[in-house]
Amino acid sequence: MHSILPISLPIAGSQDRFPVRRVFCVGRNYAAHAKEMGMSEKPQAPIFFYKPNDALVCAQAGEILKIPYPPMTDNLHYEIELVLALQQGGKNIAEAAAENCIFGYALGLDMTRRDLQMAAKKNGEPWDMAKGFDHSAPITPIAPKKTMPDLWGQSLSLAVDGVTRQNAPLSDMIWRAPELIAALSRYVELKPGDLIFTGTPEGVGAVKKGDRLNGRCGRLEIQAEIS
Ligand code: MN
Repeated sequence: MHSILPISLPIAGSQDRFPVRRVFCVGRNYAAHAKEMGMSEKPQAPIFFYKPNDALVCAQAGEILKIPYPPMTDNLHYEIELVLALQQGGKNIAEAAAENCIFGYALGLDMTRRDLQMAAKKNGEPWDMAKGFDHSAPITPIAPKKTMPDLWGQSLSLAVDGVTRQNAPLSDMIWRAPELIAALSRYVELKPGDLIFTGTPEGVGAVKKGDRLNGRCGRLEIQAEIS
């Protein structure tokens, strides 16, 4: 019989771990990225999708994560994203109460088989295999909110082999954390342990074997190599 491995992430500066319940992601949360993905009008509402929990891969501070180039694609894209880690949930959460739901933050990569996603969009098929493959959600340890007082004044950036490809202030988000939590809680009852990847700014692109990725947002940093 196989063993059951509950998935958890390290908490920065602590021996404790953060038990993960579900991994939600937000599509098109930065106007310039929505435009580069072919949307001509400003999105009217956030779209949400899932990745399976075991798509998460986490590196310790200072470690370079190895991300295997996945099968079934010739167009693997990076998307650097701020991730919310929830300590509290609920249904129909008011925006004013949503801040209390956040335990902490992480930096994540929403790795995407862009060729499969484009084909799925064109054919009206689901995105799951474009977004939810093994190792498709590299993530840092969770930094508790109280240790990140200046987070919302920061920029989110990603460099590939030392060249900056994505760089935008978090204030460019169309829907901020409280709005995302409120919106998602109208679809599902949120629970402690839920993660929300909050979307990526413009500048997404393809990577190949051997490329080094370096993402930053304030003190959060993720380093990875496509292997
Ligand atoms: Mn994304």
